Amino acid sequence: MSKPKKVTPLMKQYNTIKVKYPDALLLFRVGDFYETFGEDAVKASGILNITLTARNNGGEQTELAGFPHHSLNTYLPKLVMAGCRVAICDQLEDPKMTKTIVKRGVTELVTPGVALNDDILQSKSNNFLAAVHFGASKGTKNASGNKIGVSFLDISTGEFLTSEGNAEYIDKLLQNFNPSEVLFSKQKRKLFSETFGDNFHVFHLEDWVFQKDYADETLNKQFDTISLKGFGIDHLEQGVIASGAALHYLSETQHNKLQHITKVSRIAEDEYVWMDRFTIRNLELYHSNQQNAVTLLDVIDKTISPMGGRMLKRWMALPLKNVETIKRRHEVVSYLIEETQVLDKVKTNIKRIGDLERLISKVATGKISPREVIQLKNSLEAIVPIKTLAETATNESLKIIGEQLQECEVLRDKIKETLNEESPVNILKGNAIALGFHPELDELRSIANGGKEYLNQMLARETERTGITSLKIASNNVFGYYIEVRNTHKDKVPEEWIRKQTLVNAERYITEELKEYETKILGAEEKISALEQEIFSKLVQWMLQYIGPVQQNASLIAEMDCLCSFTTQAKDANYTRPLFDESTDLEIKEGRHPVIEKQLPPDAPFISNDVMLDRENQQIIMITGPNMSGKSAILRQTALIVLLAQMGSYVPARSVRMGMVDKIFTRVGASDNISMGESTFMVEMNETASILNNISERSLVLLDEIGRGTSTYDGISIAWAISEYLHEHPSHAKVLFATHYHEINEMTETFKRIKNYNVSVKELKDDVLFLRKLVPGGSHHSFGIHVAKMAGMPQAVINRANKILKRLEKSHSSEELSDQMKKISEEEMQLSFFNLDDPLLEELRDEISEIDIDTLTPVEALMKL
Ligand code: ADP
Repeated sequence: MSKPKKVTPLMKQYNTIKVKYPDALLLFRVGDFYETFGEDAVKASGILNITLTARNNGGEQTELAGFPHHSLNTYLPKLVMAGCRVAICDQLEDPKMTKTIVKRGVTELVTPGVALNDDILQSKSNNFLAAVHFGASKGTKNASGNKIGVSFLDISTGEFLTSEGNAEYIDKLLQNFNPSEVLFSKQKRKLFSETFGDNFHVFHLEDWVFQKDYADETLNKQFDTISLKGFGIDHLEQGVIASGAALHYLSETQHNKLQHITKVSRIAEDEYVWMDRFTIRNLELYHSNQQNAVTLLDVIDKTISPMGGRMLKRWMALPLKNVETIKRRHEVVSYLIEETQVLDKVKTNIKRIGDLERLISKVATGKISPREVIQLKNSLEAIVPIKTLAETATNESLKIIGEQLQECEVLRDKIKETLNEESPVNILKGNAIALGFHPELDELRSIANGGKEYLNQMLARETERTGITSLKIASNNVFGYYIEVRNTHKDKVPEEWIRKQTLVNAERYITEELKEYETKILGAEEKISALEQEIFSKLVQWMLQYIGPVQQNASLIAEMDCLCSFTTQAKDANYTRPLFDESTDLEIKEGRHPVIEKQLPPDAPFISNDVMLDRENQQIIMITGPNMSGKSAILRQTALIVLLAQMGSYVPARSVRMGMVDKIFTRVGASDNISMGESTFMVEMNETASILNNISERSLVLLDEIGRGTSTYDGISIAWAISEYLHEHPSHAKVLFATHYHEINEMTETFKRIKNYNVSVKELKDDVLFLRKLVPGGSHHSFGIHVAKMAGMPQAVINRANKILKRLEKSHSSEELSDQMKKISEEEMQLSFFNLDDPLLEELRDEISEIDIDTLTPVEALMKL
């Protein structure tokens, strides 16, 4: 029989806590260290590159790895960014105050989606936690057709949003908001990964969390309301359930100080331009599949505050449909372009503003440091001149912003009188509280700092009073402070002095005053620290009432920052104001691609292009041209100009006149060089089908080489059929279709609103010069071969391809085509490409072919060679 294991009390305590957090990495505070044990230790040592040791635990070896507690801020982000959930277990009582084992408990569970630590957060990005709830399925197997609810919560800023809709819409939101962690019910694992893929960091909650009653209760409790009507979300059943789940998760992770989460807002789908995820990805708005690729956001983001940066991203994900609101933004930009001084002053002051949103969130969660409170105050001070500038502007929108900005004078004054301007990050470092704020604190400090001075005064006083000239005040470890009197003066010692020690020629005494002084000075440091903490936490508590006004300021400053960013970009990159009218037209004169134009070398200027689309005459533009001529660039720049315009920004063009666009669709045909099975082609077709089912008269559709992922004839047929459908569709949605199939150009003969354009090229003898100018008219032949040449294909292959092409162009049916193919291959099989690869050999070809090998003698053959 094996001996029962003897587990130390500490490990016993560890085990009871660990079982409560089985899927988290437990950081267990022991003295000045955070320790990890067992598997956690193996994991932590791997991620953090810290030493893994083993210790004997009741006869068994347990792995152990730890780090000093003050390094938590260094190590915690690394663990979380590696995808760990980290439970921080602290000592809940002062070890000095207990004789048994110190009480411990988990004080915070940090997960990727619930993080408050600055080292984990990126200043210009939100860190969203998302929750997804699948509405009850009504007999269907998959998610389509059922409503799905979603919520996004950023605990670091207090933002909380919800929406619901079909799988496609929720998918798009998930792409846009890019949450760090997604929650859903344990039972929906399969459904979630089928619907939204496996790219998210996910966590499963118990099924019971996803209930309407429970969600209502959780949300109403958080907001101190009795109904959710005021938030305009009560009709979103699935959205409410998802929101409830997100909040539930916060309490499960021990986040209970949430006063900064004051509301949950509906993402109003109908107010924003619809872009599906293909479009967002294809336009490379804020991320790109290619490494180091420059995105639109990289180019236009001139914001200077963290909250401005975050808002600009949101504006880009959700361009507006309300023309009045769009115009108001343009007007501000127009005003700021004129009023250079105002712009400069506003920008200078925004630069002084810290991350207001996250600072005030830290007040709510009790994690703010004294230095950050000073930062908050300084930020609010910088708002005062901005408020004045905005209020006195001759622009209506700025005036309104100015009026809404809160001066928060009382808050600023209170911080100023309470804290030192040079407050430390850590309150325990001392000197956080201002001089003159608290008389007792000041006295304690003068005792701690100016002890000598006090003693000198006392000495002078006592010397005079007693007439003893050789008095001395000093201290030692055994007796503490004492007054020493040489034996010659012993008779002059006052009665109330108490003798403590007798030396050979002196006596040492203590007095009431000295005793008092001693207790004071010994306790002073400790008391100072306790008082500073108390005063500071009272201040933070008092500041809670300012969460609302500070959040409002944060959002207004973010808005101003975005508008200043638009202005700066417009000035720097020569953008122009787009004009909106009631029409459904899109008229771009000399439009440019905002990203490509930034990347070209100085000697290769960007060639601007006009694009005109309307519902009556020129509804569909077929753009032909060889590969690399600039077809995609024209498609994308058209979408980006529309998007920028509806974000409220100026646009890269000489002029733009347009009606509001409600949806932007883009589809790019799978490229031929990736190995492509039939399923990929089907996906492409499905994606295109979803456009055809959703277009309206205000939609903009961009099709880039749709159909190229199949055989030429299939491809042409598909491109043809799609274009025909779009032409015949009652919406008359505007379409740009880029294709290298010049056969499509024939469509204009039958379909009157289809117009042919091509990206012009100049054909040189063996080459093509890209002019990049979009001009009316179709192309007459394919250019693929020229591109092959450019790509460095052997000359022989090019020649051969040209020959085949000429033949093929003559054939008109697929039977004819395959006949031709057969002929071509039979005819010339005997000439291997290898033979023809060398131009010299090619020249000699005729000569070589005349040689009769059968009659050739070896010597003749040698001569020939
Ligand atoms: P296509 O779609 O016809 O294959 P792209 O639109 O991808 O061609 O353009 C190929 C490259 O040509 C782009 O990456 C860009 O560098 C350059 N380019 C495209 N349009 C222009 C333009 N108008 N002015 C200058 N360079 C351009």
